[in-house]
Amino acid sequence: MRISQYRCVACGNCIPVCPMGAIYIDPVRNRAAVNEDECVECYACFRGMSKEHLFPPMVRGIRRVARAFRFRFDPEPDICPTDALVPQELSWPRIVRRAFSDPQVPHESTGIHGRGTAEVKTNDVTHRVKEGEAGFVIEFGRPGVGARFREIQKMTRRLATAGVEFEKNNPVTSLMTDPGRGLIREDILNEKVLSAIVEIKVGLEQVPSILRLIRGVSRELDTVVAVGVSTRCDSQGDDPLAALLEGEGYAPYRGKTNLGLGRITRQAAV
Ligand code: SF4
Ligand code: SF4
Repeated sequence: MRISQYRCVACGNCIPVCPMGAIYIDPVRNRAAVNEDECVECYACFRGMSKEHLFPPMVRGIRRVARAFRFRFDPEPDICPTDALVPQELSWPRIVRRAFSDPQVPHESTGIHGRGTAEVKTNDVTHRVKEGEAGFVIEFGRPGVGARFREIQKMTRRLATAGVEFEKNNPVTSLMTDPGRGLIREDILNEKVLSAIVEIKVGLEQVPSILRLIRGVSRELDTVVAVGVSTRCDSQGDDPLAALLEGEGYAPYRGKTNLGLGRITRQAAV
């Protein structure tokens, strides 16, 4: 995202709209500007604000006169008075930022829609996580912090050494050059996104060690990490996951229980 230096009247309305704090007023130019290294191309500023099309020199003139006479001439707080926010034509690798940050665009760069998959929400028809297995979703960057792929790769590399299976249909996995080693494409490592989700599957017996690994690595990262763990219940509706989580000091609760009423898309390997 860029801000037209001709159109901007430095009202500052767009500053609190940016979840990354990437917009600032340049005191020398007296215009708003975007720190492009921090901007994740989420388009919250562009889409979240109403636009007026006032003539910029006229607005600046009125604001100067208003200052001189000690009254204010400010637009309503949700308005960019001069339509100064200008989306850029994004090319690779920057376009990855938008794919992971703007919920309204499909993952054109990865070929996969959304930040993650349906995870276990559709497990009763996909049989992705079977009895005796646990699915992990590891989310980076939310809320309001963002994450660079370089940080995410620190986690995926360590997970790979533990022998986890990365979900093939996940957007981050699709950007890996070597899932066996958890390596992400070199050319996107410096790209920053609003959030990204890594999805893995392990045997239930690995849950404690993987939780410890994630907790340890997350302390080294320059972002925030949230983790969800899921499994398949047995025929009685019971599961051994709660005891494993409690053993690691987490207070578990069933966030969701899904009943599969759809067409089975992948046969259970039972
Ligand atoms: S809302 Fe528009 S005019 Fe006001 S500071 Fe932001 S870009 Fe400039
Ligand atoms: S596109 Fe998003 S991150 Fe970039 S300046 Fe606008 S609100 Fe901030």
